[in-house]
Amino acid sequence: MTAQPMVKAEGVHKSFGPAHILKGIDLEVAEGEVFCLIGPSGSGKSTFLRCINHLEQINAGRLYVDGDLVGYRQKGDKLYELKDSEVALKRRDIGMVFQRFNLFPHMTAVENVMEAPVQVKRESKAVARERALKLLDRVGLADKAGNYPSQLSGGQQQRVAIARALAMQPKLMLFDEPTSALDPELVGDVLDVMRGLAEDGMTMIVVTHEMGFAREVGDSLVFMDDGVVVEAGNPRDVLTNPQHDRTKSFLSKVL
Ligand code: ADP
Ligand code: MG
Repeated sequence: MTAQPMVKAEGVHKSFGPAHILKGIDLEVAEGEVFCLIGPSGSGKSTFLRCINHLEQINAGRLYVDGDLVGYRQKGDKLYELKDSEVALKRRDIGMVFQRFNLFPHMTAVENVMEAPVQVKRESKAVARERALKLLDRVGLADKAGNYPSQLSGGQQQRVAIARALAMQPKLMLFDEPTSALDPELVGDVLDVMRGLAEDGMTMIVVTHEMGFAREVGDSLVFMDDGVVVEAGNPRDVLTNPQHDRTKSFLSKVL
């Protein structure tokens, strides 16, 4: 079976003014894969996720999600920039979870999870609520549906944020250091939810410093430094037997 990749980057470049951040990224993420992205701070990991999610436009190269060019429509050999409304439609299919959970503080957990399906997809509240409650159950928070974010721990808030992203039934989930802002004792519950998602076959790109998670759950691992992919492979291989000095030096600091 050679299904088309869920994400494909070919020579992706991104600059902010004079700052050249992504310097020719090539990679492929298969459907159903857990793809871990590691690298030092400032290497361009978040920028790359933001490009996949239409939050930044790339300057050169090609970036595809589920076979479609990000940001453009192709007609013959011409490319047309997508309109805002078209971008909004594409972004519905991608869930993103950030280091900071950014829940709506004035809404309960279940209302946070229902919000996008009701507002963006015009789903009925009853249908959206039913799915939201199921999702909260899936992330282990069935009993917290009526709590406001301020009444939840950081780990619980992050699990609500995951449920909120899942509520749009995305085909791809992007995680940008989802456990980095959490107290150590709260990290495990969030990683367990992500592990469950992986087992259910969700395609996930995970920027993380949790090497244990990468090793156990990851199908692929890429080490990025200074806007390039330095090393890629099976997480067990890369973490146990890194080939490049830059990878070795990074891993010696985080492992
Ligand atoms: P990482 O997630 O690997 O830590 P980032 O992708 O956040 O790295 O950032 C890579 C570099 O791009 C950093 O030097 C950062 O300052 C720069 N950068 C990110 N976003 C912007 C922006 N909107 N404008 C200017 N520079 C930016
Ligand atoms: Mg980052």
